[in-house]
Amino acid sequence: MTTATSGNDAASAVIATLPTGLLIDGAWREARDGGTLSVENPANAIELARIADAGLADARDAVAAATRAQPSWSATSSQERSETLRRAYELVMDQTDDLAHLITAEMGKPVGEAAGEVRYAAEFFRWFAEQATHIEGSYAAAPDGRTRMLVMRRPVGPCLLITPWNFPLAMGARKIAPALAAGCTVVFKPAPQTPLTSLALGTILQDAGVPAGVVNIITTSRAEHLVAPIMAEGQLRKVSFTGSTQVGKLLLAQAASTVMRTSMELGGNAAFVVFDDADLDTAVDAAFAAKMRNMGEACTAANRIYVQRGIAAEFTARLAARMGGLVVGDGTMDGVQVGPLIDEPSLQKVTQLVDDAVARGAHVEARASVPHGPGYFYPPTVLSGVPAEADMLQTEIFGPVAALITFDTEDEVVELANNTPWGLVDFVATSDLSRGLRLSEQLEVGMVGINTGIVSNPAAPFGGIKQSGLGREGGRVGVDEFLEYRYVAIPIS
Ligand code: NAP
Repeated sequence: MTTATSGNDAASAVIATLPTGLLIDGAWREARDGGTLSVENPANAIELARIADAGLADARDAVAAATRAQPSWSATSSQERSETLRRAYELVMDQTDDLAHLITAEMGKPVGEAAGEVRYAAEFFRWFAEQATHIEGSYAAAPDGRTRMLVMRRPVGPCLLITPWNFPLAMGARKIAPALAAGCTVVFKPAPQTPLTSLALGTILQDAGVPAGVVNIITTSRAEHLVAPIMAEGQLRKVSFTGSTQVGKLLLAQAASTVMRTSMELGGNAAFVVFDDADLDTAVDAAFAAKMRNMGEACTAANRIYVQRGIAAEFTARLAARMGGLVVGDGTMDGVQVGPLIDEPSLQKVTQLVDDAVARGAHVEARASVPHGPGYFYPPTVLSGVPAEADMLQTEIFGPVAALITFDTEDEVVELANNTPWGLVDFVATSDLSRGLRLSEQLEVGMVGINTGIVSNPAAPFGGIKQSGLGREGGRVGVDEFLEYRYVAIPIS
């Protein structure tokens, strides 16, 4: 049984303090055409708020503001930018509870997990506050001895940042913090399902002292009508996108028309490989974390869990017991471990993927219970014997469903894991470190977790290869994504 807390009231109180407009040139204002968009709570399908819905004219205003602010922001000292980001870190941490309730209200994850996202997001501000003062250049003699080569780093220029709904605070923080550290101004377009957290972040950045025009926020339900034109008009110099591979490809094509720099954090199809020699407790904990973080709605989610034959029965039973016992419900309720999916299309997609796998012969090992609607609840489910042709092995499940497949040899599982167009992350559970390292070299991905189900870390270069993306976010290289090289030739004789 779960008991209601004041969670919904807490979210309502936070929402009542938020601006409802667009942040353009330091001021909050309505959409020029008066458009509004509705934000709903996925746990009960009730409207949480109605906010401004930007149109093309607003997007152009935001780009113009970012363009005007670019020279003065890039001329600030790196120390000033660092201190601004450090204040943002502290303000996000101070507001952890409020932000967590906001995230739960519009995205659905349980409030404790949302608080984890807030701390994770805050760390990007702390990390990039530290990186801002470590942007380096070089000075060298050319091989002919006659010329000196001075290489400096310059901000790319005004950037367009586009984020998905699954980590409403962290995905924005992971782009805004390095952009500001590098001296870039931004136009930030969050996902229409979860824009309220971005409005809260906008007020935090204002309070941290970010000058007018440096961060502009356009909430919109009309992205495809306004993003293509502003990308084609030439003032924006970079697009940094996190979202589906399908939309990423579209934006890459659009970026080509003005040769914009791009960073693409796209979809995944992570394999989680459990070897017979794995410590069972560690393997189950790691697989559970890799599957159930964010209710399975993560690009890093373990989409295909390959289990070696000798350990398969015991591993399956343990994971099934764990997932089948999860408490699903409104994430503001005490005791709830799994919230709703984001919306009705997501619920339908996960339902269809499970139905397809079962129709093709997968066996249901566990299925938790869910509350009756109107929220978008899907029961945590464990399937074994998922056949290779099942749709869920070729696409992101993006829900609380573990797909188990048995394998026999190391060579076989490396081939299976790599047999996908994506390459974001894979996980390996083994007690043999040599094997773990061997697989880290053989798996075609940007990241590998060994005996862990979580790889995200602001200090690490997060990102994928193949159709999972281009570039990295976080780590020392995160700020490079927002910097150009400028080389100055100086003959001395
Ligand atoms: P999505 O449909 O690709 O949308 C992502 C963002 O792009 C949203 O803000 C969306 O706004 C916008 N968008 C969609 N079409 C657009 C267009 N034509 N022009 C400009 N903007 C457009 O992805 P999602 O469903 O929100 O998020 C889930 C996906 O994100 C998954 O594939 C997941 O793996 C991926 N993801 C990747 C990472 C990573 O770091 N690699 C992290 C998190 C999530 P609208 O909805 O209004 O169109």
